[in-house]
Amino acid sequence: MSISFVDLNLSKETLNSLENMGFSKPTEIQEKTIPYALEDCDLLGQAQTGTGKTAAFGIPIVEKINPKEKQPQALILTPTRELALQVSEEIRKIGKGKGIYTLAVYGGTSIDRQIKFLKYKKNQVVVGSPGRVKDLIDRDVLKLDKVKIFVLDEADRMLDMGFIDDIRYIYSKLPQNKQVLLFSATIPNSIMALAKEFLKKDFKTVKVKPEEVVVDKIEQYLFKVNEDTRFPKLKDLLHKYSNKKAIIFTETKKNVDELYKMLKKHNFKVGAMHGDFSQRKREKVLKDFKENNINILIATDVASRGIDIKDVDIVYNYRLPNNLESYVHRIGRTGRAGRKGLAISLATGSEKQNVIKLTKLTKGKIKLIDFYLNNDKKNKIKKFSKR
Ligand code: ADP
Ligand code: MG
Repeated sequence: MSISFVDLNLSKETLNSLENMGFSKPTEIQEKTIPYALEDCDLLGQAQTGTGKTAAFGIPIVEKINPKEKQPQALILTPTRELALQVSEEIRKIGKGKGIYTLAVYGGTSIDRQIKFLKYKKNQVVVGSPGRVKDLIDRDVLKLDKVKIFVLDEADRMLDMGFIDDIRYIYSKLPQNKQVLLFSATIPNSIMALAKEFLKKDFKTVKVKPEEVVVDKIEQYLFKVNEDTRFPKLKDLLHKYSNKKAIIFTETKKNVDELYKMLKKHNFKVGAMHGDFSQRKREKVLKDFKENNINILIATDVASRGIDIKDVDIVYNYRLPNNLESYVHRIGRTGRAGRKGLAISLATGSEKQNVIKLTKLTKGKIKLIDFYLNNDKKNKIKKFSKR
């Protein structure tokens, strides 16, 4: 059973924004969080990274903002400037339909520009790192009297980074009457204590279990390569499985573009997709892939979210993901709808630590080829099974 954004009773404008962002249905944390948040409940949400927590609070925020009121109505704290930017960009997109203005404030860059923005522009949602937010409150430019929603994003990391005093200070400056949403990947005692300190007594807790490694139907191989053999190895595999439908994952947008050019040069029927592509371009590539006009799709993790294609035969990891949790998401693109899947990863000797972690993560199911762990020759599989 899965529900749609329409079932969440969102405004026409917000539904429109979500469609433009390519979000076809809510993720689990969004499905569970949004109804409570819309009902003004305080909430503690726990889910691993990449599960869509930003929109889980971003959507209710946008829905609750009064577009006619210029002052900040939602304040979001994030541990780093990168996250502040990322979160503000996502909320800006969600709020586009309603015409909501979002500002990111963070240290390490000119405060004057941020002060000008705060003084002279509409800033209905403010996203920032605790230090800079505190500074702007003290300079009396960040006005908090209209704030009705306060969000702590990645609260566990903020505590680890020692922001607790800044956070308490900021909290003390907020109006009495407000909704507090606290998001964290983990809930250690310190986060529970923070929830008790900041949230109303009857706060809701929403937890999403980490995705199980359902890889029984997926055959997994990892080949040892070096930087010179990485591309030739991929090319050989693509030739060997030339009639199969495949997704190739790689880490960065730049890697996607480069790989696309190289494979195109070798006349593969290939398409590419990453976050910088317009919605229209993404839809076109997906359609080509679905209709088998191309049989190879190169993508970043982010771009692959929301891709719902059932008949992918092979997932390649051209590079191992930095965050190994994504490995499971990636290979889960194959072996769907009762079909057998194949996952092939390439890694260099310098990635040994990650490969060790990966063998644990996959409970030893991944077969290593030419890759020795702990000098254990038994790990070597001489022949790569023909399929
Ligand atoms: P988290 O904060 O849990 O780590 P994010 O909010 O950063 O996760 O979301 C991860 C990625 O998933 C982002 O690129 C985001 O745009 C995308 N995403 C979020 N919700 C959806 C959805 N419902 N459908 C498709 N993609 C989504
Ligand atoms: Mg996040």
